[in-house]
Amino acid sequence: PDGGPLLVVDGLTAGYNGVPAIRDLSFTVGAGEVVSVLGPNGAGKTTSLLAIVGLVPPMAGSVTALGRPVNVRRPHELARRGVLLVPDDRGIFPGLTVRDHFRLAQRRQDPAREAAVLDRFPALKGLLGRRVGLCSGGEQQMLTIAKALLGRPRVLMIDEMSLGLAPKIVQEMLPSIRALAREEGIGVVLVEQHIELALSVSDRGVILNHGRVVLEGAARDLLAHRDQVEAAYFGAD
Ligand code: ATP
Repeated sequence: PDGGPLLVVDGLTAGYNGVPAIRDLSFTVGAGEVVSVLGPNGAGKTTSLLAIVGLVPPMAGSVTALGRPVNVRRPHELARRGVLLVPDDRGIFPGLTVRDHFRLAQRRQDPAREAAVLDRFPALKGLLGRRVGLCSGGEQQMLTIAKALLGRPRVLMIDEMSLGLAPKIVQEMLPSIRALAREEGIGVVLVEQHIELALSVSDRGVILNHGRVVLEGAARDLLAHRDQVEAAYFGAD
């Protein structure tokens, strides 16, 4: 709103049954910026996203969205502010068509917005009448992101969009994420296991291991120091 970051995560600690799975997580996301949250299996990437939206209750720390503190006990309020989590299970119904999903995703039908979103994922245009269960994994993933875009989000947090997709498809899709951030001023948090692909479309990267930030920096610096990234990624606690 005032040109400050759209999302500020400050000292967030959260976990399950009183045991922290992430500790002291801090990062910011500005308008048009892509920030990758990277790390091996179990590092705490998904937990980070869930804690930001309050689906895993934080034990410490705070989240500020669009300049105002977030009440993590009210996840829906955050969605209303335009901070959306795109889960890795894609949230789709195999028996419904692509067009059905577009309808269900909008509170009010907005044909202009629908057209703009389809322009961003032209592959979906020819699939509107197809049942989603018959779409490819990549097409389903495009639909998931397209659905989120229909609501004109300010911040999109995308959990492992590459899950189950061939690297070639991921390679094709990631640049469109960067484009939508730039062109619509959306702040994007990208949770990924594909380190280099993710960093190649990101402004900054945060690397988690065992629930802690072990390395962070400008994406281009991280790409230039792959040895450090690998050590952080694979290093023991
Ligand atoms: P992955 O890439 O495998 O999804 P991740 O980096 O997203 O990994 P998280 O799913 O956030 O990691 O898991 C972080 C830690 O929290 C792990 O040790 C995991 O076992 C634990 N954990 C995750 N979900 C739960 C849960 N519902 N109950 C208890 N522990 C959980």
